[in-house]
Amino acid sequence: MRLTDLGNIFLHPAIFVLGTVIGSFLNVCVLRLPQEKDIVKERSRCLGCGNALLWYELIPLLGFCLVRGHCRHCRMRLSWQYPCIEALNGVLYVWFFVLYGGSYTALIYGLVASVLIIIALVDWRTYEIPIGCNIAIGVLALLYLVTMILLPLRDTPFEAATMISQLTTHIAGFFAVSGLFWLIYVLSRGRAIGGGDVKLMAVAGLLLGWQLILLALMVAAVTGSVVHLLLMRLKGKDRVLAFGPYLAFGILVAMLGGEVILSWYIGGWG
Ligand SMILES: [Zn+2]
Repeated sequence: MRLTDLGNIFLHPAIFVLGTVIGSFLNVCVLRLPQEKDIVKERSRCLGCGNALLWYELIPLLGFCLVRGHCRHCRMRLSWQYPCIEALNGVLYVWFFVLYGGSYTALIYGLVASVLIIIALVDWRTYEIPIGCNIAIGVLALLYLVTMILLPLRDTPFEAATMISQLTTHIAGFFAVSGLFWLIYVLSRGRAIGGGDVKLMAVAGLLLGWQLILLALMVAAVTGSVVHLLLMRLKGKDRVLAFGPYLAFGILVAMLGGEVILSWYIGGWG
């Protein structure tokens, strides 16, 4: 066995653990961002009795198992959301690493996926997308453009045409869906669609380019309609649709398999 093989055996679990640690932080953000509480300084407490959590209860996944999903003091059931988000974030980080290797793309897509998890959960509950989340994705999108388009210029002969066509794809992505959403927002006076949705599709479009952001919109529209119909059937009453969770899911699908889906779709027609 070579040293690199040994490295790979440990690398995937290590990336998964890193993902669960950040996933644990995402849980904190989901709880505190809507209440505008500090996400770093305050200690984590039981929502039932207010007792501060001990160090081992804060270990991602393991902490939940150690206390068997209950608070040590008041025995209140802890939400399954905590371990699920931790595991999901860990799986996504490994998935991006397998897809894109140890590249800037894997790193930036992983971080964007984490922000999308926060957006989905907060919007589902409060019908608001925290502005900080959209700013974070915007900054990551700009970093992506710098690392993917500007940095490679150092190693390859300058190809202005390629660079301009890549930049155009991403700038068009900024407007492709957000422009449509903005129009709906203005015409419906903010009732059909939220301002947060407009901004999310602008910054995600800058990251993905116009083809993939249109794909994200299609995925969001289809899953949103299906889940919404099912919810109305099951719950029997009309629930206001939060679009954010479906948009976040669509963007995630575009990051994970967008290129494959698009080439298959275009290939199918050609
Ligand atoms: Zn408690």
